[in-house]
Amino acid sequence: MLEISGRLPGTIDEARRSMEICNACRYCEGFCPVFPAMELRRAFSDSDLTYLANLCHNCKGCYHACQYAPPHEWGINLPRTFAELRAETYEDHAWPAGFGRVFRRNGFWVSMVTALSLGLVMVLTMALQEEATLYGNHRGPGAFYAVIPYGVMVTLGGLTFGWAAVAMALGAWSFWRAAGGGPVRWAALKAALADAGRTRHLGGGGDGCNDVDEGFTPARRHLHLATMWGFLLCFAATSAATVMDHILGWQAPYSWYSLPVMLGTIGGIGLVAGTAGLFAIKFKTDRAPEATHHWGMDLGLLGLLHFTALTGLALLFFRHTSAMGMLLAIHLGFVLALFVTLPYGKMVHGLYRLLALMRHHNEQP
Ligand code: SF4
Ligand code: SF4
Repeated sequence: MLEISGRLPGTIDEARRSMEICNACRYCEGFCPVFPAMELRRAFSDSDLTYLANLCHNCKGCYHACQYAPPHEWGINLPRTFAELRAETYEDHAWPAGFGRVFRRNGFWVSMVTALSLGLVMVLTMALQEEATLYGNHRGPGAFYAVIPYGVMVTLGGLTFGWAAVAMALGAWSFWRAAGGGPVRWAALKAALADAGRTRHLGGGGDGCNDVDEGFTPARRHLHLATMWGFLLCFAATSAATVMDHILGWQAPYSWYSLPVMLGTIGGIGLVAGTAGLFAIKFKTDRAPEATHHWGMDLGLLGLLHFTALTGLALLFFRHTSAMGMLLAIHLGFVLALFVTLPYGKMVHGLYRLLALMRHHNEQP
């Protein structure tokens, strides 16, 4: 039998088997939104399972509490099964469709695109600029454009960001329809945004989640908050700088007390700290409830976010020195790689989880 994605049965059948056992057991019903959503169903269609897998936030609480987890012969391992199904979901809803395969070896492709982007920006910068300009000391409005011309920066940024935005929006629409989302309701969107904005479910019952082993800790929640808000603040900083530069005509670099620099500094520090901490947790965690063969996707995004933020901060601190030219080229290389790979990497989980939370609030009595 072929599933909706044209895939042979495997992960989705395991998810269905697990949900049927859990629905009879119900020991974990207070753990997370997956269980109340499960209890509304007697049978699990492919679209139900796609929705439930993306509603799971991988706290691993049900794995450590489960009397049927390995070595029990039933081998229930919801965090791993759902992580595998989520990865297949990302692949199924990628746009354009053929690009979905990038998710399978995402770590490899992120490394390739990063190396190519860095190489391209560096070679072009060095080829197009005199050594004196590249290593010169530039100050005042328009200093960045002295190294990388305005037209090149706007074209590169506009094309890669536009591509990422369109691909992610089409992927999200495809996911919403496949997960049986129904009409979009303002109250459900508001509730889902509130849950996601404070990573409510990563708090567990107040003690946190089983991030590393059977002990509870809020570490992953705090690091997720730093990463998510760090990214959003950096995005807000770039948007503010775009308006100031391209609409108001106030060219960068800006002072320490300007809106883009303050937002970018706080956001950049949050991103660097959050991604480093999440990276460390990955290597300490118990691997039994993890889908380790998808770690390339997780680590690829963490690495890209980390180095994009780190090079952005370095550019900010050394913008009035002769290192500015090279730092700008390196930072742009990372930004380019981030936007090109964004719709085909772990970043889509934020979008799909938000949609799954919306459906959850839509269907709760
Ligand atoms: S994870 Fe295990 S303990 Fe929890 S509801 Fe499912 S079968 Fe029961
Ligand atoms: S891992 Fe956590 S979020 Fe996922 S199903 Fe289990 S208890 Fe729920």
